[in-house]
Amino acid sequence: MTHELTPLPLPVAAPRADLSLAQDCSNCYQWGTVVTAAGHHTLCLVCQRPTAGTCRPVPAR
Ligand SMILES: [Zn+2]
Repeated sequence: MTHELTPLPLPVAAPRADLSLAQDCSNCYQWGTVVTAAGHHTLCLVCQRPTAGTCRPVPAR
């Protein structure tokens, strides 16, 4: 019996992760997100800092 990796469905409501921050993260394996025990995608707390609101526009400098 082989164990095939099932492709992850497109995360509809998954939080946006900054993959550049997840480059060296072994907690989320560079995904930037982790799946909780409840099956929800959440930002990796190791590499993704919990920012207050991801919709906040980046101030142009
Ligand atoms: Zn991570």
